[in-house]
Amino acid sequence: MESQDESKKRYCSKPFSHFEVVGDGEAHLCCPSWLKTSIGDLNHDSMENIWNSETAQKIRASIIDGSYRYCDHEICPYLKSGRLETLEELSGPVREAIEFKQTQIAARPKYILLGYDFSCNLSCPSCRSKKIMLPKGSPEHQKVEELTAKIDTAFIKPASDEIIVLNITGSGDPFASNVYRTYLENLDGVNLPHLKIDLQTNGLLFSPKMWERMSKIHGNIRNVFVSIDAAREVTYPVVRREGNWSVLMENMKFLAELRKQKKLNLLQARFVVQKANYREMEEFARTFLKLGCDVIEFAQLVDWNSWRPEVFHHQCVWEKNHPERKEFLKALSKSFLSHERIFLGNLTELRKEAIAYQLATLPFIPKMLFILSHKMQNLINLLISKKIAVSKALRKRL
Ligand code: SF4
Ligand code: SF4
Repeated sequence: MESQDESKKRYCSKPFSHFEVVGDGEAHLCCPSWLKTSIGDLNHDSMENIWNSETAQKIRASIIDGSYRYCDHEICPYLKSGRLETLEELSGPVREAIEFKQTQIAARPKYILLGYDFSCNLSCPSCRSKKIMLPKGSPEHQKVEELTAKIDTAFIKPASDEIIVLNITGSGDPFASNVYRTYLENLDGVNLPHLKIDLQTNGLLFSPKMWERMSKIHGNIRNVFVSIDAAREVTYPVVRREGNWSVLMENMKFLAELRKQKKLNLLQARFVVQKANYREMEEFARTFLKLGCDVIEFAQLVDWNSWRPEVFHHQCVWEKNHPERKEFLKALSKSFLSHERIFLGNLTELRKEAIAYQLATLPFIPKMLFILSHKMQNLINLLISKKIAVSKALRKRL
């Protein structure tokens, strides 16, 4: 992790630009797993008041003073990987606020994430013990509709000179949710030139037919993040209970084609590392980069209380006493994982440890080959970066 001194010179822009609504209507300035403190409750206050609430301002002050005291330094992938920005790299209202130490933000949030409908077509063991689908007409469904309408009125529909990014969703699947899917189908992008939409999905319902159903917002859809967690057909239904690999791959090819035709700005494949899949990390990155994904993102498993504590720890192959820890370190030390389009997030520190472990334990010849393969990958990265002008957006917060 970055030293505290270094953190003081670098800033996280999220609390100055993000607004996430989760659970029953709690608002956050960042992913609640990384920054647990809520800034207010949409059931009791207006979004405008919450955006500049006392707690919101305290969180922003902690970024400006460099303490990051509300952030979980062990889990946040940006703190772990050092992907914070210097003042020079920041722009607009965020830069202004940090430069002049303003904790009250006059501008609307730039990024709005809807994370309060847990409906999903799957029930992955790492996420939930059974499938959740809110039935139409139920009080929960109605609540989700009300929250969506409130956010739409306050932050999405009003005209804006600045781009506003709507992210659906951090809690389930945008197409399995009746409310989110209907909302997406009914949005009229022609009247919302300021709106960009990012979709986080498991990909299984993102078919050509679904794409057509969103025809009025094709010009607004920007980035697509697909959570996959496996490189092999046999592993996929283990980590994505009831997931169908053939359907996933068909849809991924379709999304890659949209990306190739520049109908998407970015296609990212995600992989949450756990016991069932850690041996497939390199294969996953190779497969989905080859298919046409721009970025491959790995992340450490987070406890969503879906497993009993002992079962959860059994999944955490990086833990000190785990019997498969050495094998995990070997998998994480692979040279290909240095590829410049791979983001290791909160595994970055472990990767350093994994490489050090290999260097300390490998016999002479395998060690030389290991060093050579890492040097080769660095050279390939250099050649790729010279050949392709990788957009600045890829290097920044995704
Ligand atoms: S440093 Fe990490 S936890 Fe803190 S606000 Fe930024 S992204 Fe969130
Ligand atoms: S696809 Fe995502 S949201 Fe759905 S159950 Fe799996 S991890 Fe949870």
